[in-house]
Amino acid sequence: MLLTITTTHRPATDLGYLLHKNPARVQAVELAFGRADVFYPEASEERCTAALLLEVDPVGLVRGRRPAGEGFSLAQYVNDRPYVASSLMSAALSRVLGSALNGHSRERPELVDAPLPLEARLPVLPARGGEDFLRRLFEPLGYEVVIEAEPDGASAAGLAEWDRHPYLALTLRGRLPLRALLSHLYVLIPVLDNDKHYWVSRDEIEKLLRHGEGWLTTHPMREAIVSRYLKRQRRLINEALARLTSEEEADADEAESEREQEEQAVERTIALNEQRLAAVIDEVRAAGAASVIDLGCGEGQLLRQLLGERTIERIVGLDVSVAALERAGERLKLERLPEAKRRQIELIHGSLMYRDRRLEGFDVATIIEVIEHLDPPRLAAFERVVFEFARPGRVILTTPNIEYNARFENLPAGQLRHRDHRFEWTRTEFEAWARAVAGRFGYSVEFKPVGPVDEQLGPPTQMGVFQP
Ligand code: SAH
Repeated sequence: MLLTITTTHRPATDLGYLLHKNPARVQAVELAFGRADVFYPEASEERCTAALLLEVDPVGLVRGRRPAGEGFSLAQYVNDRPYVASSLMSAALSRVLGSALNGHSRERPELVDAPLPLEARLPVLPARGGEDFLRRLFEPLGYEVVIEAEPDGASAAGLAEWDRHPYLALTLRGRLPLRALLSHLYVLIPVLDNDKHYWVSRDEIEKLLRHGEGWLTTHPMREAIVSRYLKRQRRLINEALARLTSEEEADADEAESEREQEEQAVERTIALNEQRLAAVIDEVRAAGAASVIDLGCGEGQLLRQLLGERTIERIVGLDVSVAALERAGERLKLERLPEAKRRQIELIHGSLMYRDRRLEGFDVATIIEVIEHLDPPRLAAFERVVFEFARPGRVILTTPNIEYNARFENLPAGQLRHRDHRFEWTRTEFEAWARAVAGRFGYSVEFKPVGPVDEQLGPPTQMGVFQP
């Protein structure tokens, strides 16, 4: 069972200080169920990788667990536990890397909460629930998720053909504090394991709530996570969920989003951003909306303007990025709003990839400069979430017109406006997509240019307004 964590933060060897483990030495820790070694396969200024190798003693693991004669089965001795990243990895994480998990660093306290470029890799993971489940667990936390099949997993584990089930290699990449990564792994690795025979006590609720702090309450898969973490023990699950719902959303990563600044730099000459916001507000007014949900609200530019609209009674901003939502909360100065205004607006963490009842029942949904951030193969999921399930009374959607890029002097030819854009469409491409979506879900669509219209290239931003 192996976990590696890599950073390219400079100097990368700070990772050693954060983990309280010297990169120059191999450190072994004896555990009740085996032993853990921490070592560094690479440790340079540019790149540093720490590895946690867990060797489980399969006999020690079951010895003394159950009274003799009760529930004995060969499966206790012949199992895949020593080889896959299972619940025991969490136990090892907290024993061996407890200080880092709990956010203590004597030598580098300023890095404890700093978002760092991190990559975690679990090369042998039980794939129960499949690839989709893995994505749904980790993507809402802001990770780029890479999953590879592990064809040799079963044979590596020495399992017989009949006991073969697929293993996956999981890589997570993100920019977040190390302690956040460790707490995600601490909670979610046992969730993947889903082994019903594992013993759970009430202490597990405390561990779950402690390590889930700041992210579990708003995770779209919260119920599945709690249920699997507590091994489907109904009473424990109910207690944990009740406590989670009453808990305040607290600490999260404070990743400073560079997105806005960068995109603004490209589009600056024509103050396109302002024109886009004004065009969207005009459409919201024209719709006479009393409730608006801004999907992919980012740092809340549009939300701020919506708050100034007297006829709007309910505003919700949704984003997949916790950091963006935090910034939105700060910029909107939510704490300082008068109570009545404060109650009008809500920021929610969620993903446009998954059906979510919180998105239902709005007069208008705005989706401003968001679709180009979605992977094309996943657009179909997004379309259903918005147009089939949420079904707002009107959808106002904008996206760049790639044809106009030639007019941006500071944008090299062939380059998209932002490095996170997965695509940018021509007018023909956008209109074809929008018409097809409208047709499929029983909406009609109208197109409106935003920004100065170039005779040949069209406007810099294209807008589609959909109505049932
Ligand atoms: N609408 C804002 C932000 C646009 S940037 C504005 O106009 O300023 C795109 C935003 O979409 C980012 O904040 C990003 O976090 C969010 N996003 C990307 N994928 C998402 C998804 N699957 N679900 C919800 N939001 C997503």
